[in-house]
Amino acid sequence: MPLTGRKVTILGAGIAGLAVATALARRGAEAVVLERSDAIREVGAGLQISPNGVAVLEALGLGPALAAHGVRARAVHLRDFRAGREVLRLDLSTGRGAYHFIHRADLIEMLAGAARAAGVQIRLLHDITGVTIADGRAQLTTAQGAQAMADLLIGADGLHSVVRGALNGMAAPDFTGQVAWRALVPATGPVAPVAQVFMGPGRHLVHYPLRGGELINIVAVEEREIWADEGWNHDDAPENLRRAFADFGAGVPELLARVDHVNLWGLFRHPVAARWHSGPAAILGDAAHPTLPFLAQGANMALEDAWVLAACLERHSDTETAFAAYQAERRPRTIRIVDMASKNARNYHLSSPPLRALAHTALRLGGALAPGGALKRFDWVYAHDVAARYPLTAAPMP
Ligand SMILES: Cc1cc2nc3c(=O)[nH]c(=O)nc-3n(C[C@H](O)[C@H](O)[C@H](O)COP(=O)(O)OP(=O)(O)OC[C@H]3O[C@@H](n4cnc5c(N)ncnc54)[C@H](O)[C@@H]3O)c2cc1C
Repeated sequence: MPLTGRKVTILGAGIAGLAVATALARRGAEAVVLERSDAIREVGAGLQISPNGVAVLEALGLGPALAAHGVRARAVHLRDFRAGREVLRLDLSTGRGAYHFIHRADLIEMLAGAARAAGVQIRLLHDITGVTIADGRAQLTTAQGAQAMADLLIGADGLHSVVRGALNGMAAPDFTGQVAWRALVPATGPVAPVAQVFMGPGRHLVHYPLRGGELINIVAVEEREIWADEGWNHDDAPENLRRAFADFGAGVPELLARVDHVNLWGLFRHPVAARWHSGPAAILGDAAHPTLPFLAQGANMALEDAWVLAACLERHSDTETAFAAYQAERRPRTIRIVDMASKNARNYHLSSPPLRALAHTALRLGGALAPGGALKRFDWVYAHDVAARYPLTAAPMP
């Protein structure tokens, strides 16, 4: 077992960092996670975890926790924005495995618990501002100016990754012309375990239940000309969200009337990193392939990356060979998913009424003639089980 006692430094205690740390520690590595925040916490928002992500959580021993904290999703209903007329129903309850809606904070807490149980050390308030790779080692510089060396460094440091920068240089992302709000509201009654997607001209809104149906997660996307900053947590006035979706029907304005806190962020398109590794360092998750949220795959891809990266390091004692195998396995798939997510926004937002009617009729007809057909075209995304493709070669640690 080549990972026994191997020291690995992981930057970032998000979904990718905690998952890869756990997967490595369960294979015998001594994993240390450096996180810049003062606590392991997550913004209040939901995530959809599809069967490809569920497979990794189960392999990490988190299947029961996911069942306890997530809402098992039954379907996605695509609707026209005005009267809420159903355009297409995607049945998630049969065949392909479980889909879950989960609060991000609950997922992070589950992953942090699994990491600690596997012996991972999580060090908070470690803000790494510089990474230099030389002589087969990585030198890290903290915001306070302290320096540390790592023999093996994994960059799980998200959208503005310093490790990606060290491997690829920094590239400016493109504004997509879209912004997204997200908000949580308490449910006022029973809510079906369904993602409701309302598609309007230049806008769409998705909502689904979290925490046993106590909360409703809202993501609302609008096309816009300009945006100055890219980030996750810009507060906005709920009134702006209500105004943007005022002409939506089917209960949307009533739902938005209950929003008292909302975040807004610009959506940017980043290329998938050309280099995922160099010498002792590699990247995964958003650090390697930030994606638009229109296929709900960012966290799922991060989980897949984590499992494959740990498996490759276990299989190949030479780091270069392990990282090359990891990149060869992951990069083509993530490029395909990131492309598909970019195209999806256009499908939701057709502005011209005749075009929208035509597209909706085609979707409705397609759904009637081949129920299940619409979801089948996503099989390559959801049925991809990296845990089965890369089974643990040694008994996992308790
Ligand atoms: C609106 C929206 C909805 C989404 N919905 C879904 C969904 O339904 N399903 C899905 O699969 N994905 C979804 N995603 C995408 C998903 O949230 C991300 O892809 C995922 O969180 C990426 O995880 P990560 O661990 O790579 O990065 P992050 O979650 O960004 O974690 C990075 C961590 O690194 C830390 N860090 C960063 N820099 C440093 C540094 N220099 N030093 C130390 N620590 C550092 C950060 O503090 C953070 O804890 C959505 C995204 C958005 C914006």
